Amino acid sequence: MKLVVSKFGGTSMGDAGCMLRSASVSLKQGSKMVVVSATSGTTNDLIELARTAEKSSWDKASLIITKIKNKHEKIARDLELPESEFKIMNEMLGELESMSRGIHLLKDCSLKAMDSMQSFGERLSSILFTHAMNLVLKKANSDHKASWLDVRDVLVTDNQFGKARPQTNEIIKACDKRLGAIRHENMVYVTQGFIGQTLDGMTTTLGRGGSDYSAAILAEGIKADILEIWTDVAGIATTDPRICPEARAISEISFKEASELATFGAKILHPATLMPAIRSQIPVFVGSSFEMGAGGTWIKKEVEDAPLIRAMALRRKQVLVTLSTPEMLYTHGFLYQIFKVFNDHKVSIDAITTSEISVSMTLDDSALLNKDLIRDLEELAVVQVEEDLSLVSLIGNNINHTPGLAKKIFNAIDGINVRMICLGASKHNFCFIVDGSAGEEAIKKLHKTFIEG
Ligand code: ADP
Ligand code: ASP
Ligand code: MG
Repeated sequence: MKLVVSKFGGTSMGDAGCMLRSASVSLKQGSKMVVVSATSGTTNDLIELARTAEKSSWDKASLIITKIKNKHEKIARDLELPESEFKIMNEMLGELESMSRGIHLLKDCSLKAMDSMQSFGERLSSILFTHAMNLVLKKANSDHKASWLDVRDVLVTDNQFGKARPQTNEIIKACDKRLGAIRHENMVYVTQGFIGQTLDGMTTTLGRGGSDYSAAILAEGIKADILEIWTDVAGIATTDPRICPEARAISEISFKEASELATFGAKILHPATLMPAIRSQIPVFVGSSFEMGAGGTWIKKEVEDAPLIRAMALRRKQVLVTLSTPEMLYTHGFLYQIFKVFNDHKVSIDAITTSEISVSMTLDDSALLNKDLIRDLEELAVVQVEEDLSLVSLIGNNINHTPGLAKKIFNAIDGINVRMICLGASKHNFCFIVDGSAGEEAIKKLHKTFIEG
């Protein structure tokens, strides 16, 4: 029997019906570990609750608590959650209220407190899902039982709150100790995505959308044979179907292409998801929990078909930071100094180009919240910041070895101003920056030329 880890995203956990459907998918797939997200919208509600408790009135915060409570209690009633589990859920909701009060009284919500607040989403949904899983197992007369696992017992991270980094060796050790017999147990472990814990017991999160990443790390930790990501679309498409209804599902994609696609903006996978899968050679399947039979995408090391352009992605809310100084001329070490500033502020750069006296790089707009970053850069050079841009990426194979490709790309987006281009570093990616308002149009035109054409 293959050891399967399945992950269900927020929409697959939307209500009791969704949970039962997702549990049936797990049963059919013979999953031994199920990693769940918060119910859809709950992480956003928790963030809003934390901010409201910190900055606004208790009445307003209280309304959000009630909303979260009502939503989970309704699912619990619909699933006929037994009294003892209802009690556990209510205690958790009580803990959420106390923590919110603490934030309100202190008028202070640190990143650390924010992570604890967000953890309630997955902790609550996983209690409900464990019960849904047991209902489905019982109905099928299975000899397996679902068991709730606090992922913080195994998913060890560093203390970079808000974007904590999993500690692979510690995780593997903890998984061996806690879950070493998983292959042979008559047990389906239901656990939380997105959250982890430092070695000294502080709750952390892996960053928004991080449940995919959690599932991949756990799959590596328990030496799984297959990782399944169940979401609301039947696999990875040639582009975001919300931008381009003509987007088609991709049946197979290589680890390298899928990593570029996730990193450059396709929301379907958290960008770090494939790192553990690549390291441990675990094939990943992406499918729809709503339509199990509709197929999906296999992500694996080797794929048979390798088209020049496989897919395209749009990353919104980008900023372009350009640093100029004559000191770049004929000297060395300037880029080192710049990168050191980014490193000190833990901000990652996506695309970069340089000229003789200037260097331009793209960042997510959230980096600008860090005023010290810009101040420190200004000590090195004249800094120009352009906001509201979009990063358009084409993903495929042999992109930098194909004559005439750039011409075809720029012909396709004729009329759209290109602010910066990045080509050459990867044979799987060609990306460029356009005005925020032109991003969708660029994707539509490129999709027509390279995929539909
Ligand atoms: P989940 O809650 O299951 O993690 P997400 O909302 O994070 O789901 O990711 C699924 C969504 O990703 C889809 O509904 C789709 O709109 C979006 N998406 C973006 N790019 C792509 C793509 N290339 N293929 C499929 N879906 C995409
Ligand atoms: N619940 C978290 C979020 O909304 C993690 C996830 O769903 O992957 O970002
Ligand atoms: Mg997601």
